[in-house]
Amino acid sequence: MATIDSASRPVGTKTQAVIDVFSRYVVPNYKRFPVCLVRGEGSRVWDAEGNEYLDLFPGWGCNLLGHCPGPVVRAVQEQVARLIHVPNTWYTEPQGEWARLLSERSFGGQAFFCNSGTEANEAAIKLVRLRSGGERYKIITFQGGFHGRTMGSVTATAQPKYHEGLGPMLAGFHYAPHGDLDAVEKLVDDRTGGILVEPILGEGGVVPAPEGFLQGLRRIADERDLLLVFDEVQCGCGRTGKWFGYQHFGVVPDVITLAKSLCAGIAGGAMLTTADLARHLRPGMHAATFGGNPVAAAAGIAAIRMIEDEGLLDHVDRAAAAFRERLAALKERCDAVRDVRVMGMMIGVELTIDGAAVVQACLERNLLVNCTQGRVIRLLPAMTITEADVEEGCETLAEAIMEVASRG
Ligand SMILES: *Cc1c(COP(=O)(O)O)cnc(C)c1O
Repeated sequence: MATIDSASRPVGTKTQAVIDVFSRYVVPNYKRFPVCLVRGEGSRVWDAEGNEYLDLFPGWGCNLLGHCPGPVVRAVQEQVARLIHVPNTWYTEPQGEWARLLSERSFGGQAFFCNSGTEANEAAIKLVRLRSGGERYKIITFQGGFHGRTMGSVTATAQPKYHEGLGPMLAGFHYAPHGDLDAVEKLVDDRTGGILVEPILGEGGVVPAPEGFLQGLRRIADERDLLLVFDEVQCGCGRTGKWFGYQHFGVVPDVITLAKSLCAGIAGGAMLTTADLARHLRPGMHAATFGGNPVAAAAGIAAIRMIEDEGLLDHVDRAAAAFRERLAALKERCDAVRDVRVMGMMIGVELTIDGAAVVQACLERNLLVNCTQGRVIRLLPAMTITEADVEEGCETLAEAIMEVASRG
């Protein structure tokens, strides 16, 4: 982002020293803000210069319960001192318990554990292929979707910008316009084995599936004997005020993939599917060495328990209502706001102006937000966010949008 270096606040000496180390030793595959974060608590983080920020995008959606949530920190500390890792040639209590908690909150199936979203989707891709012994290898995905960066998941991601220079891509992926059931029907043939879709597009701009779309996919999947896979890496695990995104739409998929918020900030991923389908991932066909490790499992269990003990699904509904009210009022008085989409703690503010400039204007006001699709300000706030932080965040965001809009 070109405007970063001209930020009003000069880069401090501690931060500059870290940036210098990165320049020499870290692969430059990310755009980074010139800020070095050192500590976090709830919806607040602090940088190496002592500045405090309100973080409405904690951990890129991974820090579902804010920075360093107490119950998760304690569970990890206890587990890491007892047993850090053992391979999946042994049984461990935490992995089984974690799978049970996830199963009971979804559709009663079984879990395969891995470490990231892209890996969870790779497992789903393999499951689709293995179910037919490789006969029906084709998978339909959607424009605007995002599924990860390994070769299978990045091929599943339709946008050409993610494929540039990486070809040849994995065979068998076919892309339909998001929401277009006719296009899906036309793409299905005897070699098609599955449909992969985000019930709420995340990177695509926080876009819930249009009315009837997921029902239509369920119908097509049933008629043509396809697996319906929901990528819930961004919208799952309680973020939307329900345990899983699909529960908003009254459509039950055959497979869901999870990561990001699954372990409230610790790396972890999972694929959930029915016991009947799960048997196709037979021993020897798929694995993840660190998958379901005791520390990730302890964090995942603690996250679920904390959400329940603290009534956070209901809290999300209240916080979402507060965001909706304030952002709707902003839309009323500010032409630069085109649309506001709130699905629990998954929020998109679509602008008519450049989103990157707004992110920068927020940063200068010590507010951390994200921009996706060029013009959508995306917030993935902690489920624990307070009413006061919602108010402060919305006010600061409004100021930043107005300022950028006034530049013309
Ligand atoms: C982030 C994301 C992924 C990829 O997850 P990683 O953990 O980065 O591999 C996949 N699907 C969706 C919907 C995502 O938001």
